Amino acid sequence: MTAITLKGLTKRFGATTAVDSVDLSITSGQLFFLLGPSGCGKTTLLRMIAGFIEPTAGSIHFDERNVTGLPPNKRNTGMVFQSYALWPHMTVLDNVAYGLKVRKITAAERSGRVMKALDTVRMGDYVKRKPNELSGGQQQRVALARALVIEPTVLLLDEPLSNLDAKLRLEMRSEIRRICKATGITTVYVTHDQKEALSMADSVAVLREGRTVQIGPPRTLYDRPASRFVADFLGETNFLAAVVAGAEEGMVTLETPAGLLHSTAGVAKTPQGGNVTCSIRPEALSVTESGSGRNCLHGKRLQTTYLGEIAQHLIELADGSSVKVLQLNPSHLDQPGEEMHLQVDPDDVVILAD
Ligand code: ATP
Repeated sequence: MTAITLKGLTKRFGATTAVDSVDLSITSGQLFFLLGPSGCGKTTLLRMIAGFIEPTAGSIHFDERNVTGLPPNKRNTGMVFQSYALWPHMTVLDNVAYGLKVRKITAAERSGRVMKALDTVRMGDYVKRKPNELSGGQQQRVALARALVIEPTVLLLDEPLSNLDAKLRLEMRSEIRRICKATGITTVYVTHDQKEALSMADSVAVLREGRTVQIGPPRTLYDRPASRFVADFLGETNFLAAVVAGAEEGMVTLETPAGLLHSTAGVAKTPQGGNVTCSIRPEALSVTESGSGRNCLHGKRLQTTYLGEIAQHLIELADGSSVKVLQLNPSHLDQPGEEMHLQVDPDDVVILAD
């Protein structure tokens, strides 16, 4: 197992800085995600780790080894692309065996390793088929087997699920995680799909304009985003402007135009009288009957979308702003315009740094 360290890694294409001085430590055996919007530099970063793109500055280390100047075939990385890149004229067996043939592995050893890789991805029964006789998900499994069979130091996955339909994508999420954990291989996975990252990753780096803006496990990023950008990118949220009215014993009191709120989550330094933004997820707001007690907001229901087990309400608060609320096992569906009372735990009122 191999740890990956990036130090000040930078790539400029003419006037465009695709990757801007990235420092990252990926511990061995981790399933590590690079997550961010289109054009933020994820693929460029991954291709630099693979050796396909030469960095403008900075270095890449596999354990203690500086691999920055090495060509791809000397790094022993396995790569899986969005398009699978299987050879259409070759059988599953030959596609997976190809990398071993190039490495001059003997036929006897080859067949053992190919079958082991195909069994890992549960494709052992399909050896004689050609890629066009397989479903998209099966082709993706073969592409994974082909990357794993060379026993790579690290596995690199570039949006591997984006060509699959929604149902298969869900299935393959847990499959890829199972395979990475079973093999114990350090894996770097690029995606712009936050649900993919949240459901699969050990750790996620959120990228914006070539820089990492926050790194952490999925729950930390979702529950404790440090910035508006991360809060917004990782899921739906409500932003409320607020002024810090006081702080004691870890509890910050916030004056918002819609009422007083208390927070125990977010940035440590919140100067009294300072303007801040807080983030409250729609599912953290609960509909209450009484409307009294700490952290209550009051408003009028503008709109409800009924989705069966859940309803999405849009509530207009006292100051005219509106918040989204998710209600499990929904009630309050019959009377548009009715008064509604909402409550939120101080731990779910996250004060953002910017
Ligand atoms: P996507 O999710 O759309 O694939 P990404 O986050 O992977 O995007 P990159 O492909 O790494 O982003 O591109 C980052 C930036 O670098 C973009 O502005 C892109 O236009 C630019 N870029 C990438 N490759 C080249 C190149 N070969 N020449 C010039 N500019 C490039």
